[in-house]
Amino acid sequence: MDESLLTIKGVGPGRVKQLNKLGITDVSSLLTYFPRTYEDRSVSYLIGALKQGAVGATKGTVLNIQEKKPRRGLSILEIYIGDATGRLKVVLFNQGYKKNFYKVGQRLHVYGKVEFAYGSLQMNTPHIEILREGQVAEAGIVPVYPLVDGVSQFVIRHAISNWFAANDSLPELLPTDITKEHNFMTRYEAFKEMHNPLTVERYGLARKQLAYEELFIMQAGLLLLREREQAELGIKMQPNGDLVPAFLKALPFALTGDQQKAFNEIAADMEDERPMRRLLQGDVGSGKTVVGALSLLKAVENGYQGALMAPTEILAQQHYEGLTELMAGLKPLAQAATEQGQTAGLGQVKMALLTGSTKPAERQVIYEGLADGTIDIVIGTHALIQDSVTFKKLALVIIDEQHRFGVEQRATLQRKGHHPHMLVMTATPIPRTMTLSIYGDLEVSLIKEMPPGRKPVLTYAVDSTYKERLHRFFEKEMTAGHQVYVVCPLVEESEKLDLVAAEQLYEELAEKYHNKFGVGLVHGRMSAADKEAIMDAYYKGTIKLLVSTTVIEVGVNVPNATIMCVEGAERFGLSQLHQLRGRVGRGSTQSYCILVSDSHSEDSKQRLAVMTSTQDGFVVAEQDLLLRGSGQLFGLAQSGLPDLRIANILKDIDLLIAARQDAKDWLAKLGFDEAVKLMKPELLRRFGESFQRILYS
Ligand code: ADP
Ligand code: MG
Repeated sequence: MDESLLTIKGVGPGRVKQLNKLGITDVSSLLTYFPRTYEDRSVSYLIGALKQGAVGATKGTVLNIQEKKPRRGLSILEIYIGDATGRLKVVLFNQGYKKNFYKVGQRLHVYGKVEFAYGSLQMNTPHIEILREGQVAEAGIVPVYPLVDGVSQFVIRHAISNWFAANDSLPELLPTDITKEHNFMTRYEAFKEMHNPLTVERYGLARKQLAYEELFIMQAGLLLLREREQAELGIKMQPNGDLVPAFLKALPFALTGDQQKAFNEIAADMEDERPMRRLLQGDVGSGKTVVGALSLLKAVENGYQGALMAPTEILAQQHYEGLTELMAGLKPLAQAATEQGQTAGLGQVKMALLTGSTKPAERQVIYEGLADGTIDIVIGTHALIQDSVTFKKLALVIIDEQHRFGVEQRATLQRKGHHPHMLVMTATPIPRTMTLSIYGDLEVSLIKEMPPGRKPVLTYAVDSTYKERLHRFFEKEMTAGHQVYVVCPLVEESEKLDLVAAEQLYEELAEKYHNKFGVGLVHGRMSAADKEAIMDAYYKGTIKLLVSTTVIEVGVNVPNATIMCVEGAERFGLSQLHQLRGRVGRGSTQSYCILVSDSHSEDSKQRLAVMTSTQDGFVVAEQDLLLRGSGQLFGLAQSGLPDLRIANILKDIDLLIAARQDAKDWLAKLGFDEAVKLMKPELLRRFGESFQRILYS
């Protein structure tokens, strides 16, 4: 499968160049370059026989091409084709650049829906192929591949059919008994069906089989990964320390049942000699930080160090402040204990904050403190995984908002200790079954229950005609002493323009309200120090209205904030909107989330409707997946595993469960070494470098 493309008949250096544009570099990547969709051209109509409403194929000669521009921003390209029986108008919208692409006299094959408009039949944006001299359009079920400019369907179809013509087998991947049990066809047949389906039924079977294969390999890899990590001896902690109970006693609130349960699970893991690999999942505001603090203290009371890594500086800063405040409760207890001649050390927990903007001198002190063990807990950003950071006895690594980090970054921090325990915390409420596929190497603890007294955030979708009313609402809440977030989207392609928009909005609001309430602006291009100063003023309440680009998306905790207003809400993903909404409703006062959007697209309306109809992060996540497709799954790509090419995590959940069970049985039967030997090449091929380094380093 690693053979060069040049071994295929009809593929020379020129074709190779074109295929390369699609990321196709060898036979294997050619065969796994699956069609985007298929067209059933079993019936091709003469133009005169086309009927309104039918979906089908026809062909004809280009008679005339016209471009129309009825209004600014709209261009319509009309291509008239004809055969002996009639004429058909083919309409393309906003594709004026194709004007010179089609020429009078060319023969076109078109496939699409026949519509009736302005007294004649037409096809809007059909699929078009230019037929060469003497070329006959393919019939039957025809694959349609995703393309880029300068590469035609013909090039890829031709390469693929020539490969199949010259070969009659492919190496099998799955263990024979599994293939038998599931009644699978050969891999050769399955791939052939994917590219050139004989029937819809056979295609369905082939897709299912290859999806299963993909999931089996992924699960086998994740299971091997877990087995390998757990084969190592980690650090066994003692059950009864003094810091954890003292901290709980000093805490101004009682843990919720779910928080207690999660910590019990974590404690049990840490008391085991196998390193913990646990995911702590809980909706925004469910109180994960306290559970993280308890886990860190457990490491400290056992004489070890702990590290917490967060994705942004603001978040790291806030964790640091939050933990300092939580730990402050330990101090008086420590004093009392010392006076009574009990445990010294209590309340002496030493914490440090390490981020990209920590000053060099201070940074040096922290490096030394971590290396000689005088610092017990460090909180930071990516700065923690720099080479210069070393620990004396790191026993626990906590990673917050895991989806922001890759598998590899997670591993780098782990390597700074001797098989330390690892806890990853995420507010992304991934449906339970789905965690299997992404976090297949982790156990899961779930915080479902919110701290008592929380009121659901009232969510409204409005358009920008509501501006004045909104401003009056902001004013009312701020007069009552509450705080407001206004978020503007920052989309990378036009960062500058978006920034201008955010600044304008800020100026408008500042002019109205700054003197009375204090208005601030934070955005991604500010220096860390400036950002921090503004955020600080917002925490303290001297700024009551904060205009921001999405930098506050994760983790920020200002319980006094009661309004989250999101401008251009259609430009955010559902899970992002849910995160943003989670910034309010953190105290006992009624809070509001207002989604402002002028978009009329069906898709945005649907997404905003999800937000206004549910508070449940799991429902939001599921809807998000359904609307967007699993490829986009919360930065699945960033999690270090590539997107699934065939399987769909939502729709193929049954296959996933079956594949996981089969992979487990297979691994148990074969043993680790043999299994690695068999799966290694395919794991490398599909999961790439980052997976390799973890599994085999
Ligand atoms: P998240 O899970 O989003 O990280 P946090 O840990 O920031 O949530 O907690 C949100 C807020 O709830 C914080 O102000 C925290 O002090 C508070 N909190 C956490 N647990 C409880 C509890 N059991 N009872 C009352 N308030 C709690
Ligand atoms: Mg948090």
